[in-house]
Amino acid sequence: MALVIDGERSTGEDVRTSNVTAVMAIANIVRSSLGPTGLDKMLVDNIGDVTITNDGATILKQLDVEHPAAKVLVELADLQDSEVGDGTTSVTILAAELLRRANMLVKQGVHPTTIMSGMRMALKEAVKYVKENLVVPADELGRENLINAAKTSMSSKIIGPDSDFFANMVVDAVQMVRTEPEEGSARKRARYPVSAIHILKCHGRSALDSELVDGFALNTSRAAQGMPTFVENAKLALLDFNLQRHKMQMGVSVVVNEVREVEGIRQREMDITKERIRKIIDAGANVILTTKGIDDLCLKYFVEAGAIACRRVKMEDMRRIARATGGQIVTTLADLEGNENFDPANLGRAEIVREERVGDGELLYIRGTPRSAACTLVLRGANEYMLDEMDRALHDSLMVVKRMLESNALVAGGGAVEAALSMHLESYAMSVATREQMAISEFSEALLVIPRTLAVNAAQDATELVARLRAYHHTAQSNRGREQLKYSGLDLFEGAVRDNLAAGVVEPAISKIKSMRFAVEAAITILRIDDM
Ligand code: ADP
Ligand code: MG
Repeated sequence: MALVIDGERSTGEDVRTSNVTAVMAIANIVRSSLGPTGLDKMLVDNIGDVTITNDGATILKQLDVEHPAAKVLVELADLQDSEVGDGTTSVTILAAELLRRANMLVKQGVHPTTIMSGMRMALKEAVKYVKENLVVPADELGRENLINAAKTSMSSKIIGPDSDFFANMVVDAVQMVRTEPEEGSARKRARYPVSAIHILKCHGRSALDSELVDGFALNTSRAAQGMPTFVENAKLALLDFNLQRHKMQMGVSVVVNEVREVEGIRQREMDITKERIRKIIDAGANVILTTKGIDDLCLKYFVEAGAIACRRVKMEDMRRIARATGGQIVTTLADLEGNENFDPANLGRAEIVREERVGDGELLYIRGTPRSAACTLVLRGANEYMLDEMDRALHDSLMVVKRMLESNALVAGGGAVEAALSMHLESYAMSVATREQMAISEFSEALLVIPRTLAVNAAQDATELVARLRAYHHTAQSNRGREQLKYSGLDLFEGAVRDNLAAGVVEPAISKIKSMRFAVEAAITILRIDDM
């Protein structure tokens, strides 16, 4: 009896092949953007919005992917982006390559279960090998290493040519938001919350006019000219409601007999508003930020009280400010008894809030916040596409520096880790006398896709370069006294092999390890499917 299902059904070989085809299609899209010589993509959505980017996760996010297996890959890139922040292109390419090779094995008659366990074994061995042999403690060379890692991550991006300038800025920014562990908390190490680094995009001038500002900058100005331009010892009220003249609710009808009474109602409406504002001011607030509007009447009261008020602050910014200043976002003044009041405990604090001119507009700076330090990268650039891409590139670099500082371990880039692992896993495969052997050796081959793609994108002879790279790593692993060669990676501009650790092409170890993990997980997820 045939199983009746609504729709189409395909099984076994067919499903796997169609999944692999879909996944390869996705990987082929991002392939050419890998590495410092990778190219950018221009994506146009159906409204006509344009994104120009080199970032794997961004490219995949913009694609309208329908195939379920391909979606796994898109999610993979997204996961890498949120967990590691960099390496999104690499992880996609690696996952697709693993899957392609796994599918070949299945066709040769190896059972998927064996392949999966082989891949897991290879992964485990690879991670162990990286940790034991390939990592270098990052603080050995200090700041220089952080700068190099930041430079490596931005080398393929739009800001690559100015990487000296931006790498310094990124490292300064991350170090500025260093947060020491709280007294008595389980965490021993300092944290570097990248979310405290605000990126503000300002049109005009050139990228090199971008600057790092200590403090929180908001793209809003005072709501009225009469307000002071700065307030010291600021107490910030963070509101999420409209400040406007109180209006009678819709549908309420009031019968008046005399014209004078109308005037009375109007007066009362104004008084209610005034009382509300008094409550906020009396609580001690001298800077009022709201995500909604403030009308002229309310502005007048704030001006009289000598406070700064800003309207239409983005909720996202508001949350950051709340975190940094220790304030609470207040959504209503009403309390449980039906009265209205403003609790002074909700106020955030800052040493100074000041409006300053930047470029053609004004920004509001909040400096000296007690909870966590905050800083802002004010980016300048010719157009929106450029600014957006700069933002994405800087995000990657910020994450790289953060990872580096938090985990204190780096590895050489430019295919060095992949080639070393490939050589090691090849001999490891020989030592495994079970069916998993084939899967392990396919895994070792798959890793070479990274150096190969890097070389192809750089218009170099990939076959020859990768062969030379393998030879170097073979020497490093088999000859005592030549271990230094384990940092050999590609020099993409010269088409040669060099010591990438010395050349300053470095990446956080954690990003390599995680991307291998994620790639294996994704490949296995798709490989497990045999019925659709
Ligand atoms: P991803 O989205 O995966 O981060 P990138 O386009 O940033 O992709 O490319 C990262 C790869 O490029 C890494 O393998 C890194 O080692 C390599 N790479 C970056 N800079 C250099 C360089 N100057 N020389 C050689 N390889 C480099
Ligand atoms: Mg990168």
